[in-house]
Amino acid sequence: MIKRVAVLTSGGDAPGMNAAIRAVTRVSLSQGWQVFGVKNGYQGLVSGDYVPLEARTVGGIVQLGGTFLGSARSLEFKTENGRKKALDHLSKAGIEGLFVIGGNGSQTGANVLHQMGFPVNGIASTIDNDLVGSDITIGVDTALNIALEAIDRLKVTASSHRRAFLVEVMGRDCGYLALMTGIGSGAESIVIPEVEMSAEQVAQTIQAAYKRGKSHAIVVVAEGAKNEVDTLSAFFKNYKTDLGFDLRAITLGHVQRGGAPYAFDRTLAARLGASAVEAMARGQYGVLAGSKGGEIVTTPLAEIAGKTKGIDPRLLQLADILSQ
Ligand code: ATP
Repeated sequence: MIKRVAVLTSGGDAPGMNAAIRAVTRVSLSQGWQVFGVKNGYQGLVSGDYVPLEARTVGGIVQLGGTFLGSARSLEFKTENGRKKALDHLSKAGIEGLFVIGGNGSQTGANVLHQMGFPVNGIASTIDNDLVGSDITIGVDTALNIALEAIDRLKVTASSHRRAFLVEVMGRDCGYLALMTGIGSGAESIVIPEVEMSAEQVAQTIQAAYKRGKSHAIVVVAEGAKNEVDTLSAFFKNYKTDLGFDLRAITLGHVQRGGAPYAFDRTLAARLGASAVEAMARGQYGVLAGSKGGEIVTTPLAEIAGKTKGIDPRLLQLADILSQ
């Protein structure tokens, strides 16, 4: 019978992580368990940095972006020695179960702990949406909405001055956020890591938009694309052919992930947090709580660890048609 559990947030912060910590805490408390928060992701696990979490400790955070526990990328946890230290601290504190709120790398780490025999369940949370085991992850919807709001504003000024904007969005090596931002904002062109696109091709899409009579052109560029915004900007500095539009570049960067979670992410966080705890309560360990086909499901961490989700080619086609 489990009596004490811990929860951590790991990898890049995502809007809704706080709501997930709150859900894990309160559902765990409802099981009669004691709950601890691990500070700064796996780093705090390695150093044994815990804080007790009560119902009141997690009050007033459901609407806040980021993660009040802190997040970090821990190289030490990737070593056997680091993981041994983490397990020693957990054992000394009498903690018998762990919840990992995070993305791809974090859930791969969770799977390693699970394989070492420690009860761990994951909660799918990353703005990159690259995690196998969940159609959509906590943070994606808010990050998308923030990007759309920013581009809506850019389009106003772009149209007034007949400008083209290169807009870099986050997503690490995955183009999902850029693709959906492009579709949602009506971008004229989308550059993602999954599809080879030369700088010359980007130039052609801008020129073509000008020739079609557009008053602006928006090119959404994924940070992980081979031709990201800095590379494209350098290319266009020496570009001799007239684009039609005056060109500007902007990187949305961390602004995109720092917002307050929208309704979708708060409710997804509540449901996934509860699902991970309920799974542990019935003795189901080593699973990821995610959302598939609108249902909350659990998938063995071993099936998702180290894998990344691809891009649906039909969405690429749609983006192209809609950009006309
Ligand atoms: P995001 O992509 O949203 O930033 P993420 O969870 O994918 O989130 P990563 O930086 O890939 O972020 O991973 C977070 C942490 O998980 C790493 O710093 C490391 O401590 C741990 N981790 C990642 N991969 C492994 C692995 N193969 N084995 C053990 N731990 C890992």
